[in-house]
Amino acid sequence: MIDPIIFTGNPLDRASELRSDPDWVAGQLAHPEARIVPFWRTKPLIRLEGARAFPAWTSVPALGDHHDPARTLFLGLNGTQTPFFACDVSAVDEPKDDPLLTGLGKFIDLRSICPNLSVPDTGILAQGKAILQWHHSHRFCSYCGVETTMVDGGYRRHCGACSHDHFPRTDPVVIMLVTDGDQCLLGRSADWTPGNYSALAGFVEPGETFEAAVAREVREETAIEVGNVRYFTSQPWPWPMNLMTAFFADALTTGITLRDNELEDAMWASRDQVRLALAGDKAAGFNAAPPLAIAHHLLKAWVA
Ligand SMILES: [Zn+2]
Repeated sequence: MIDPIIFTGNPLDRASELRSDPDWVAGQLAHPEARIVPFWRTKPLIRLEGARAFPAWTSVPALGDHHDPARTLFLGLNGTQTPFFACDVSAVDEPKDDPLLTGLGKFIDLRSICPNLSVPDTGILAQGKAILQWHHSHRFCSYCGVETTMVDGGYRRHCGACSHDHFPRTDPVVIMLVTDGDQCLLGRSADWTPGNYSALAGFVEPGETFEAAVAREVREETAIEVGNVRYFTSQPWPWPMNLMTAFFADALTTGITLRDNELEDAMWASRDQVRLALAGDKAAGFNAAPPLAIAHHLLKAWVA
């Protein structure tokens, strides 16, 4: 049993069979109960209640001129068929000076606030952040250079000049805990906080399986050969639009040689060390990844 992982458990039904109909999307936007959350330059609008945080859901009319249907993403329907949307208000120069927005909440970096949000809400906001960010960075047609238009409720951009369609990206990353009996392989990048170590990770390349990416990344970074790659779980990671896919793998060799300069250090850690690190005990000799990260859950499952 895996604990709920941040950015997973999005409860909304994306209604992908309905959202390609612009009249249907317009009808959902006009729904009297429709809820919408603004994002400003990748930060969601958050309502704080003590230590708890919530997406600052508001109505479309309450957003006034800030609501631009051309920058509005359909997120999905909840269990009572209430439609949920996200909209990009990045055109606002400084939201702190905007009484309408400050009256609703505060724009806060998703990573810093997610421990205060419910896990399902982190999943909804991850969806909004990743797709709105994709629209921001993919405004122009990659075939002809003309500005494209958001369609299908935000799940496609269409080029009116050359008719090509463009779809939101998800970039798969493999993260793997390589084990050899009672020890596991951890590494650290030079730019991390001193003492932090985590499972190895890297992007899947085109034409590559997850299993091959796991073996290649571990070989490139540490010269260790692995086999028996087993899928564990996955986590959307909206920086900007990654999907973390977590695996266990068996070490076939154990001698570490740092090879591609991605890691500053790599080491074998025992189960006891990992248990101490997960408990925040300095006697571990290193700091484990926080619960926000899927690496934390890989380590937790390994020592369970
Ligand atoms: Zn085009």
